[in-house]
Amino acid sequence: MSKIQMKTPIVEMDGDEMTRILWQMIKDELLTPYIDLKTEYYDLGLKHRDETNDRVTVESAEATKKYGVAVKCATITPNAARVKEYELKEMWKSPNGTIRAILDGTVFRAPIVVKGIEPNVRSWKKPITIARHAYGDVYKSVEMKVDGPGLAELVFTAADGSVSRETIHEFQGPGVLQGMHNLNSSIESYARSCFNYAMDTKQDLWFATKDTISKKYDHTFKDIMQEIFDTEYKEKFEKSGITFFYTLIDDAVARVMKSEGGYIWACKNYDGDVMSDMVSSAFGSLAMMTSVLVSPDGCYEYEAAHGTVQRHYYKHLAGEETSTNSVATIFAWSGALRKRGELDALPELVEFADRLEKATIRTIEDGKMTKDLAMITTLENVTVLNSADFIKAIREYL
Ligand code: NAP
Ligand code: MG
Repeated sequence: MSKIQMKTPIVEMDGDEMTRILWQMIKDELLTPYIDLKTEYYDLGLKHRDETNDRVTVESAEATKKYGVAVKCATITPNAARVKEYELKEMWKSPNGTIRAILDGTVFRAPIVVKGIEPNVRSWKKPITIARHAYGDVYKSVEMKVDGPGLAELVFTAADGSVSRETIHEFQGPGVLQGMHNLNSSIESYARSCFNYAMDTKQDLWFATKDTISKKYDHTFKDIMQEIFDTEYKEKFEKSGITFFYTLIDDAVARVMKSEGGYIWACKNYDGDVMSDMVSSAFGSLAMMTSVLVSPDGCYEYEAAHGTVQRHYYKHLAGEETSTNSVATIFAWSGALRKRGELDALPELVEFADRLEKATIRTIEDGKMTKDLAMITTLENVTVLNSADFIKAIREYL
């Protein structure tokens, strides 16, 4: 059997701990036997990030801008304990944050739906994808505690020196204050990423804010989304048979709970933070969530939504058997391969990505799965496999 050939490389970002182990197994068992895999390799493992003063992370993001498609393994975001553990020169920033800032992208998270892992919400039949705006609002806010009576004002000094002010509140006693902002440019990028991703995946797009209460702040989000839709995407959406739908956030929440799924739910930063945890846990398992960062100019970085599974890694190092779920990491690869195949007009590569996903789903639906899924499945008589055997079982189907 001749291997599938590629044209353009995929940017490969290797990572840390247990997911780094899975990464190699996936390549050895499920990819390189079938594809003449072309990647440009960047080692984002913490040790190498430290050696390069984190330059490697920046370079991998720049390569993604150049080639358009990347696949990323989970990486450690260092904290004080990690600085000690790895004897780091500095507490390096989150690689995902660095990459997101360079690509100016939006993160889309979607669950992988399989029979036997049933959502807690009975009506959900298809995945719900959350698109979280990842800039500003409460995440870049300034806060103050007020000790007693006084006047709080919102003051804006324009570049020409002119001043506008609004009274926030005349405090009669102690209280709290918060000031936050967002940028039209960031909301515009977000809007385009959402519309492009909806077109790409042929799913309806929902967007919700609280514009009835927040008549300037949230209303600006609503207006920018609508204007970009009307001028740039309306016709394309009509041709694809998909819709863009705006509603109030509380109405959206109520509709989501009664829906079948199968759409993208675009959320402001805080709503996306909260709702993505609700949606992912209600769909069953963090190990079954995929994540893709999409830039407004059409670059894609695929990854699993979970972390490096540290606890399993230490078991692995101690020579104990692990049963770590590799599904989201496999789907990160299949997502990147499919996108590469689409961009380079390589139907064989697209078809391989489809087959790899089908083989993975069949393996689970036939009752062969890792421990995390075995604990929540509705299937009976399941076989619990270790990390390596699960990947080997998928290869049998492939
Ligand atoms: P985590 O790696 O997501 O794991 C948390 C727990 O969830 C695990 O201990 C495990 O539970 C379960 N789990 C997650 N993924 C699993 C999988 N594939 N198979 C089976 N079980 C799975 O989160 P963490 O332990 O809080 O973080 C570890 C490191 O990951 C941190 O250094 C953090 O900075 C990093 N992180 C990276 C990313 C990223 O690169 N995108 C995202 C999040 C976190 P049990 O232990 O109960 O089996
Ligand atoms: Mg959160």
